[in-house]
Order: sequence, then C-alpha cells, then structure tokens
Amino acid sequence: MRLLLFGPPASGKGTQADQLVHDMAIVQVATGDLLRAELASRSPLGLAARAYMDRGDLVPDALIIEMIAERLLRPDCAKGFLLDGFPRTVPQAEALESLLATLSMTLDSVCYLDVPTEMLVRRAGRRLICSSCGRSYTRGPRGGMPAGCQVDGAPLVARDDDRPAAVRRRLEVYLEHTLPVLDFYRNRGLVTRIDGTGTAEEVSRRLLEALLPRLATPRADPDRQDAVLPRLVLEREVQARPVARDLPVLDRHVEPRNLSDSEIA
Ligand code: AMP
Repeated sequence: MRLLLFGPPASGKGTQADQLVHDMAIVQVATGDLLRAELASRSPLGLAARAYMDRGDLVPDALIIEMIAERLLRPDCAKGFLLDGFPRTVPQAEALESLLATLSMTLDSVCYLDVPTEMLVRRAGRRLICSSCGRSYTRGPRGGMPAGCQVDGAPLVARDDDRPAAVRRRLEVYLEHTLPVLDFYRNRGLVTRIDGTGTAEEVSRRLLEALLPRLATPRADPDRQDAVLPRLVLEREVQARPVARDLPVLDRHVEPRNLSDSEIA
C-alpha cells in the first residue's frame, strides 16, 4: 500500500500518519521529520534547509527530491509507505511520479485532510513536539498537555515554525504552491477528501473507512501481500470501532473565528 497524506500545515497529518502506519503496517516518510533530523545532525542538507524552514518557506525542490529518492529506495519502503508532507509542489509531484515509474510503482490513494484555515492557525499555536522523537501533541482548548513525551518521556517543546508569523507564511506557501498538487492527483482520480475536524480518533476512523473501498478496488492486487495485510487490519479496525483508543492527542473541535497573535501564541 502506497499512500499520500495531504493537507495544510497543522491539519493533523503527523498524528494521523502515526496511527495509519501502525494500522497499515507500512513505513512513514515525512519530509519535515527527515529535514529536522538533518538539522539536528548539522548535516550540509540540514544547514542548507534551516533558513527556509525557520521562515516557513519551502526548501528548494532539488534538495527535497534528492532526499526523498534516497529514502524511498531503502528496503523498508518496498512493502509500502505513507508520504507525509511530500510532495508540496507540482514539480515534486512530477518527480515522485517519475521515480515511482522507474520502480514500477504507483500511488494507491491520496487522502486530503480538509480543515478550516482558522482552526489550522489555532492548532499550530497549541502544538508542542517531543524534543527527542518529534511526536506531535496538541493542547485541548481548556489546556491539558502531558508533562513529557508519552513514548520516551523527553521534554515537549514548541516548533520554531509554529510562531504566528511563520504559521501565516506556511499557510500562504501552502495556498500558492501546495494546493495545486491536489489537482495534479485529482486528475489521476486518486484523491479522497477527509473531514479533518474533530478529535484525532474521529479523523482516524474517517480515514480508515475511506481507505477500505480503495483497498477493495483492482488497484490493490489481492495477490500482493502488502495489499492483503492492511485490508485485514482495516476490516478488523472498522468493525471494532467505536472503541476508545489511547491516542496521545488531546485536541477537540473548536469553532473557527478570527484570531489575534496573542491568542495563537
Ligand atoms: P512539516 O513538518 O511537514 O510541517 O515541514 C516543516 C518544514 O520543512 C516546512 O515548513 C518546509 O520548510 C520544510 N519542508 C518539509 N517538507 C517539504 C517539502 N516537501 N518541500 C519543501 N519543503 C519542505
């Protein structure tokens, strides 16, 4: 199964990706996480990317495409993967299509997490990430945040690019460069829109329910192990719900409205 999770900044892609890769037994390939790891190791790519990331701008396509090609060629991607945060421009989407073609692969589905803009800005202001593993946590409207990462106990910190000015810039960049990628995939009949509002559990359930028919279509070859395994997982999951899941996300639906910088920060 080869999936793409598409959506604006702070739409919950990271949280949903964590859950989906677990449910589908595939690996997550998140360009933001890959870049943050490069930054942490002070590699030449990390140092080149830093200024773009701090401003909320896109890192140049050539750097991203080289990084993703290297990642997708690793053996753990052979049985399927979930792309998160890539492609973010039409040239990146075209490069991905060429790369997959050389590997005799195609994408199975593009899931578009649709969240109103006002809610995105607010969510980014309430987000902290684990300083060690990068897992994302979003405070509910009435507070409530774990003292440390629920996976490894490391302190939670704000992302530099979640500052109000950078969030606004990232949203502008999304509208100008990334939204056209949706049409690229709509033209290929791959896009499923998912309502991204509500709790993480609600969105996760919608995602699984939307993916189930995709898995049953001829795109998913029944002889392929990577298609059969997630289908079994999915059927079990959908039948079993609603069962409370122990997700480390405390987000709740909030009404969109105009927000000032002080409310965001
Ligand atoms: P994310 O964690 O996906 O929000 O990404 C954080 C930052 O990394 C973005 O604001 C960009 O500066 C950079 N970035 C991540 N993925 C890409 C991409 N596919 N193309 C260009 N820049 C990216």
